[in-house]
Amino acid sequence: AALLLTAGSPATAQKAKLPTAASIEQRIDALLQQMTLEEKIGQLNQYSGREVTGPASNRKNDLLNSIRNGQVGSMLNVKGVADTRTIQAEALKSRLKIPLLFSLDVIHGYQTVFPIPLGEAASWDLAAIRESAHVAAREAAASGIHWTFAPMVDIGRDPRWGRVMEGAGEDTYLGSQIARARVLGFQGEKLGGTDAIMACAKHFAAYGAALAGRDYNAVDMSEQQLWEVYLPPFKAAADAGAATFMNSFNTLNGVPATGSNYLQRDILKGQWNYQGFVVSDWGSIAEMVPWGYAQSKSEAAQKALAAGSDMDMESDAYHTTLAQLVKEGKADIKLVDDAVRRILRKKFELGLFDDPYRFSDLKREKKVLNDPQHRLAARDAARKSVVLLENRNNTLPLAQQRTIAVIGPLAKAKRDLAGSWIVLADTTQITSLHDGLAKRAGKNTQIRYAKGCEVQGDSRAGFAQAVETAKAADVVVLAVGETWDMSGEAKSRTDIRLPGVQEELFQALKATGKPVVVVLMAGRPLIFNTIADQADAVLYGWFPGSEGGTALADVLYGDYNPGGKLPSTFPRAVGQIPISYQQYNTGRPVTKPGDIRYKSAYIDAPNTPRYAFGHGLSYTTFKYDNLKLSQPSLAAGQTATLQCTITNTGKATGEEVVQLYLRDLVASVARPLKELKDFQKIMLKPGETRTVTFTITPDKLAFYNRQLQWQAEPGDFQLMLGSASDDIRLESKLTLLP
Ligand code: BGC
Repeated sequence: AALLLTAGSPATAQKAKLPTAASIEQRIDALLQQMTLEEKIGQLNQYSGREVTGPASNRKNDLLNSIRNGQVGSMLNVKGVADTRTIQAEALKSRLKIPLLFSLDVIHGYQTVFPIPLGEAASWDLAAIRESAHVAAREAAASGIHWTFAPMVDIGRDPRWGRVMEGAGEDTYLGSQIARARVLGFQGEKLGGTDAIMACAKHFAAYGAALAGRDYNAVDMSEQQLWEVYLPPFKAAADAGAATFMNSFNTLNGVPATGSNYLQRDILKGQWNYQGFVVSDWGSIAEMVPWGYAQSKSEAAQKALAAGSDMDMESDAYHTTLAQLVKEGKADIKLVDDAVRRILRKKFELGLFDDPYRFSDLKREKKVLNDPQHRLAARDAARKSVVLLENRNNTLPLAQQRTIAVIGPLAKAKRDLAGSWIVLADTTQITSLHDGLAKRAGKNTQIRYAKGCEVQGDSRAGFAQAVETAKAADVVVLAVGETWDMSGEAKSRTDIRLPGVQEELFQALKATGKPVVVVLMAGRPLIFNTIADQADAVLYGWFPGSEGGTALADVLYGDYNPGGKLPSTFPRAVGQIPISYQQYNTGRPVTKPGDIRYKSAYIDAPNTPRYAFGHGLSYTTFKYDNLKLSQPSLAAGQTATLQCTITNTGKATGEEVVQLYLRDLVASVARPLKELKDFQKIMLKPGETRTVTFTITPDKLAFYNRQLQWQAEPGDFQLMLGSASDDIRLESKLTLLP
């Protein structure tokens, strides 16, 4: 679909008259001089405000009083023009009339639901990902929101962790590119556009590495891992201009991230010279008490401020203890001023002091929320996120069938297709797989439905009817997976096999002899070995959003040729977790039969994953050829180019993600067998050939050495071009000269 809503395009972003950076600093100075200590601390407090617009209650009264007294800097969870305007009007009654920031978790769409972030990452399509964030921002901004708590840029290598759905997968390079695309999508090039909101890179840092996938847990990690794997997506977000950062619940090597001077002051505000502000995670300042890192809320506030946490989300710790701490000399007023300055700076940059309502009015809200272009963008994102895992005997795309049996607990599901973190979506408006298929199939095809079983539970009572339905059809489309609430925050699982009796249902259907196409929908990589071994075709649809059913029908019928590639390794067994494609070479056999040395492998399963990072099939095939490296060696400061040709050797137009991996053969620390360093997504017509060129800079050869310096070491590097991390097609060697 042609998308008309490019981020920042003049057609959609009215130019707001925004103050200049210099004038902003002057205005902040002037304002700070007028502020009392209490008013300063007021800017640092953020509260959840579902109650402020609800019926009378004590909490409502307290909050409204605090707002009128200038003791609140930001609200979360108030949404919609009517409510945000009402509350903003209260803030404007305060002595200094400083407007509130309205914030919300706009994670993958506001009213229009886009695929979950992990699904979008499978598109490897940075323009589509940016567009998705832009549409979400456009709707949220029209609805009075200034700030989203997204993107989550945590690397996730443990699919037990429920929040892998919210990130971009396991890889640092891909994750960094996506972090940048999302920040630019939400914010535009510069803060303050009518259709844009502030982004928030979260959760700083290493939240995704929580022990055994247990949410909120401790993280113990080498500095090298931290710098090399977990920090770069944050750096990319900061470089793209992310207005805010959120810190994190977890400890990092013993210190709660919220109280970490190292993370927030040394790295973020020091080395990276970050000028935005840091918001705590929900109650994470107060949670330093149960961690045993602070005696009391007051000590927690003291430590959090000292460590660089600027805004207190919902701990009520700054509000209740900071003034006293300053008076006692336990908290430095300079740090308070710095935090206030950072927050005010964003309010100025957003244009809030010039228009505290930021163009939001009921008419515009209604118009923007119902813009039909947004559904088109959601459909585009959804079909780009689908990954074709198996396609035996070219079962897909579907031919014109007389009868299709659409079976499974997710076949008619709507709410589930939206996944976790939805804001305003009317889930009855979501297109189910069944409805998408029925619409596409047309009058000459009969669609028959049977549920078969539930996602969870052990009842096989529906199997018989499902089998009868399958027998009467030409092909079976089976929709299985997780329900929407089995992934997301606090939704970690120990067993990530396809839940319930869904795989048994598959076997019963397969036994009919009919071709069975399985569509999986889930918020994480699942384990489904029987389906993987036996299904005629397998599509991974993640949670595809508002237009999920339409997009899946596009793919099933070949109206859209799938080009998605896995952003995460799919394990064979839970025991392989944590797992990523970045393995090391022990020199010991992994699978070679007859080798009597002790293996670096399990005795009950291979080391290899079920599906590798970067894997994804197409309805066509691509040939990689004519590898050309511009020069065999590279002197410091030089760059080389690596080229190859890609030819579409099949019969359908299709997209290929050409992936560049690299291995540093000998270095001062052992390096992984493969690291993704670049990729290009290209579309080719049947028979078409295109030359793809990558630039190899010394920076691409660099890594963090043991002194934590980012450095490329002279020596030999293996360069690999491929269609997946386990499907390398061309290889070359480059020498970095001393
Ligand atoms: C989550 C954050 C989220 C915040 C506000 C926390 O529990 O960890 O990611 O932004 O709640 O809803």
